[in-house]
Amino acid sequence: MKKILLLGASGSIGTQTVDIIKEHKDQLQLVGASVGSKTDYLETLLEEFSLEFVYSINEQSELASKYPNTRFYFGDKGLEEIVLEENYDLLVNALVGFTGFKPTLLAVQNKKDIALANKETLVAGGDIINQAVKENGVTLLPIDSEHSAILQCLQGHRREDVKRLIITASGGAFRNKSRAELANVTLEDALNHPTWSMGNKITIDSATMMNKGFEIMEAHYLFDIPYSKITPVIHPESIIHSMVEFNDGTIMAQMSNPDMRLPIRYALLYPNNVGDSCVKTMDFDKMFSMTFKPVDYSRYPLVKIAKEIGGFGGNFGSILNGANDEAVDLFLKGHIKFNEIENYVIKTLKKAHFIKHPSAEELVSYNKWAKEFVRNIWANN
Ligand code: MG
Repeated sequence: MKKILLLGASGSIGTQTVDIIKEHKDQLQLVGASVGSKTDYLETLLEEFSLEFVYSINEQSELASKYPNTRFYFGDKGLEEIVLEENYDLLVNALVGFTGFKPTLLAVQNKKDIALANKETLVAGGDIINQAVKENGVTLLPIDSEHSAILQCLQGHRREDVKRLIITASGGAFRNKSRAELANVTLEDALNHPTWSMGNKITIDSATMMNKGFEIMEAHYLFDIPYSKITPVIHPESIIHSMVEFNDGTIMAQMSNPDMRLPIRYALLYPNNVGDSCVKTMDFDKMFSMTFKPVDYSRYPLVKIAKEIGGFGGNFGSILNGANDEAVDLFLKGHIKFNEIENYVIKTLKKAHFIKHPSAEELVSYNKWAKEFVRNIWANN
């Protein structure tokens, strides 16, 4: 029985993770969970599972007296405290944003395996996390469809035979629009993703393709592959979730109808991926086609920036992440236009101070600096 602590339980990945746990009660047990402000959902989880420890932003004294056998964490440091609990095997980190970084690091230091849906952890702190993973002998598994695909394609192969990773991208909501046409797109347009249904932040990151840039950085850290050997490609149908090309010219691809429950389950049950199909199976009795298009870096500058920033390493990932978070937040609140997001990110990186070997605390403070920097240039505009 694998005991699971799920952070970000009420989000899109979180609720699907809960479904997977319910479907595999013989192998998986939810022992802890965190929600942000959705305390109704926390109560639902408390009713359904016998949770040993939980977190929510605000103190829940009523719930705490109703569930006296559960330890309740809350507040700014609560997420960092709950991961130090002993009685769990796997941390599923489905938090959104940089708040996911410190809990992952502390859980690794607490010798817990990690299933990571929180990109920011590796984008901002990949060097520190990888070092900690090595020192503590834990397993770090991806819950991103692309990285899960790569992990699956690598099974049974030697790393030295890998020529490159090919990461597929849907191209986002505006893949058929030119740069000029992006000037007046609305928030509603941006939130309408063609193939995946996800949270707001990641849907915007998908439209700017910042998300793909982050995934390139994630892939670099997860699979220890240099940036020069990671190629993004636009594949609008989102059927192939990513590929691995080997030195002999063979390309392995993992495909399925898009459904996040597949990569979630792969990580949760790893290395025993068993179970009935949880996705709509592909229908080969009908004709269908798959198309591929190179990524135009001038159309999607944030992908190029991510590759360059990734090559620098140090504190730049954390700054890129903070600047993008804040710029996307400004867009989601209707304060800036869609095509201004990248400008804010670029301006922030240009002003940033580079450190090659930052500490975890420095990553946190540079992330905060980047957010404030974006907020200030917007306020003074
Ligand atoms: Mg993805």
